[in-house]
Amino acid sequence: MDHVEIIEVSPRDGIQNEKTLLSTDTKLELIRRATEAGAGRIEVTSFVNPKRVPQMADAEAVANALARGTGKHIGLTLNRRGFDRALATGLDEANFVVVASDTFSRKNQGVGTEDSIAAFREIAAEPQPIRIAVTIAASFGCPFEGEVPLARLMQVVESCVAANPVEIALADTIGVATPRDVTERVGAVRRAFPDMPIRLHLHNTRNTGIANAWAGIEAGARALDASFGGVGGCPFAPRATGNIATEDLLYMLHRSGVKTGMDLDLAIETAEWLQAQLGHEVPGMVMKAGGFPNAAA
Ligand code: ZN
Repeated sequence: MDHVEIIEVSPRDGIQNEKTLLSTDTKLELIRRATEAGAGRIEVTSFVNPKRVPQMADAEAVANALARGTGKHIGLTLNRRGFDRALATGLDEANFVVVASDTFSRKNQGVGTEDSIAAFREIAAEPQPIRIAVTIAASFGCPFEGEVPLARLMQVVESCVAANPVEIALADTIGVATPRDVTERVGAVRRAFPDMPIRLHLHNTRNTGIANAWAGIEAGARALDASFGGVGGCPFAPRATGNIATEDLLYMLHRSGVKTGMDLDLAIETAEWLQAQLGHEVPGMVMKAGGFPNAAA
C-alpha cells in the first residue's frame, strides 16, 4: 500500500464531548485549517439531538457556512431525522451510524440494531443527491455487552453492505481493539466483500490506537479517521477517550513511505491551536516531540 486517506474527525468526534463549547466560527476555523493541512475529507458535524450533545447544536450553521468544493464535508447521522437535516444543508456526504450491539444501539440512537439498519437501508434505497457511508460502532467491543462476536459483526456488515454504501467503517468506539482483532475483522470483511472500501475509526483509549491503524492498513483498510491532538470521546460510552492523533498517524505513515496528502507541520500547528482553544492538554505526542529529522532543532 502506498496511499491511505485520512478523514479528519476533530470537528465532530474530537470536540463533541468537550465541556468548553466552541463557537461556530472556531469550528469553521478548525475545518479551514484541516483543509489547509490537506484533509480531503472532513467530518464537520453531527446532526443529533442538541439536548443530548450540546456541542453539536450549531450543526446547520457550521454546514451552511462551509465553502463548497473545498473538499468532501461529511455529516454524521444516527437516524432519518438526522439524515434529512444533513441533506438539507447540502453537505457532500452522510455518515450513517449503526451500532453492532443492541444495548449500545438503544443508548446511542434510541432504537435497537435491527431498527437502525432498517432505517439506513430505507434511506440508502432511495435516490440520494449525496454520498452515503456507514459506520458500524462498537465493531470490536461494547461498553455494555462486552465482547461483540465476529459472527454478530459480520451479520451487521452484511445487512449494511446490501444497501450499497460508498464505504463501510469499522469503529472501535471504546478503544478495546488490539492489532490481532483488527487484522481478523478487517480481513473478514475484505474476504466477504472484496469490492467494499473499508475505513477504520479508532480510539486510543488503551494505547493500542496507532498499532491498530498499522494493522488495519496491512489488512486492507484504505481510510482512517483521526483527530488533531488526539482529542475525542463519546457522550454515550462510559470512559471513552480520544481518537488517534492525526499528526501522530501522519508521522508514522510518512516515515514508513505511505502517502496521505496531508502536511505534518500544518497538522502539528493545528493540534497546538486546537489545544489552546480547548484550554487543556490534549493527548497527541508528535505535537510535543516534533517531527524527525527536524531542521529547526
Ligand atoms: Zn469515535
